Amino acid sequence: MKLLEHEAKALFRSRGVPVPPTGGVIKTLGRLSGALKRAGKGPWVLKAQVLAGGRGKAGGVKLAKNASEAKAAAKAILGMRLISPQTGPQGVLVHEVLVDKATDIARELYLSIVLDRREGRPVVMASAEGGMEIEQLAREKPGAILREPVSPARGIDDFQARRMGFALRLTAEQVTSFVKMVRALTRLFIDYDASLVEVNPLVVTKKGELIALDAKMSTDDNALFRHPDLASRDDIEAGALEKQAKKVGISYIELDGSIGCMVNGAGLAMATMDTVSLAGGRPANFLDVGGGANADQVTRAFQIILKDKRVKAVLVNIFGGIMKCTTIADGVLQAVKKVHLNVPLIVRLEGTQVAEAKAILDKSGLPMIQADSLWDAAQKAVKAASEAPR
Ligand code: GDP
Ligand code: MN
Repeated sequence: MKLLEHEAKALFRSRGVPVPPTGGVIKTLGRLSGALKRAGKGPWVLKAQVLAGGRGKAGGVKLAKNASEAKAAAKAILGMRLISPQTGPQGVLVHEVLVDKATDIARELYLSIVLDRREGRPVVMASAEGGMEIEQLAREKPGAILREPVSPARGIDDFQARRMGFALRLTAEQVTSFVKMVRALTRLFIDYDASLVEVNPLVVTKKGELIALDAKMSTDDNALFRHPDLASRDDIEAGALEKQAKKVGISYIELDGSIGCMVNGAGLAMATMDTVSLAGGRPANFLDVGGGANADQVTRAFQIILKDKRVKAVLVNIFGGIMKCTTIADGVLQAVKKVHLNVPLIVRLEGTQVAEAKAILDKSGLPMIQADSLWDAAQKAVKAASEAPR
């Protein structure tokens, strides 16, 4: 789960990590003056709250010297479609703006904690080249990134953080607050089962203080049950169909193509998407109905796929391993009778009792195109989708 900047900053604050004074998040212009008051004397900075970085360059971060500039900034950001390298070309709509007191910046540094899968533990990364995206930094100046592995049990050792602080050319006094900050953030990372805590930029103010100017945090969804404070928050990343699928235990991810894919097993679902692409089509979704793949589950999956108006053909690719193909064929028939199928349906079954299953589908008289292999199915689906009028 990804946290918004203001959510991550609230956690930072709770652990004593310095962040700018804030007026909170607003959704309407009417709330602006209250937020400015809460943040304290101007200038202020207004920041789009979306789950993507690169907001600064995309016009989602604006400084305001006075109330009228703040109003113009809030007007421009609220409701904007923010397009950054991290959002994809369609961008994301901005519903919320964070109003913080602006900070006088002397230096911008980079600090993050990520899970290093190769080392099997967290690693703290820092660089004097703040503000720059870490991916770009890793490509262009890998030597400028400092790394310290962290013990998952003990957290970071002070000498490690101190070594980092001096390498960042901080003063002795700043190193002391840097060590405190790194220790607190590492603790936060471990406590929240995070996969990322990133502060970019970590700034040194003109007065010489260290402040987390930006905050990014991702946690492991599989550990959400341990964090009721996070689990209760609405999943803002998922679309309406994705939420509906989650409720009925179907793994579904919306994509932008025209071929709806219904598959059992995540591996087979991915192979199906690849094959559709290879055949010149684009999958409308990733969908794994699960190992059971009974009539109910198949019906629900159909209902979700068909709600996506971009779907011009549905490709069912199910392997009868745990379940016999005949059971699956019955399930597909039941589902097709129940849902209003208004696009071509291509079915490819494989596995136990496949011949009997194909006979069941043939005899049903329902409109569907049977396929003999995944490649055959993908080609038929691509052809059907390109010919569909819908
Ligand atoms: P991001 O582009 O999504 O990573 O958003 P950031 O919160 O990192 O802001 C982008 C840039 O805006 C920062 O690197 C700063 O240069 C600038 N910025 C953000 N807040 C302030 C502020 O309070 N004062 C000043 N002077 N610049 C700021
Ligand atoms: Mn940033």
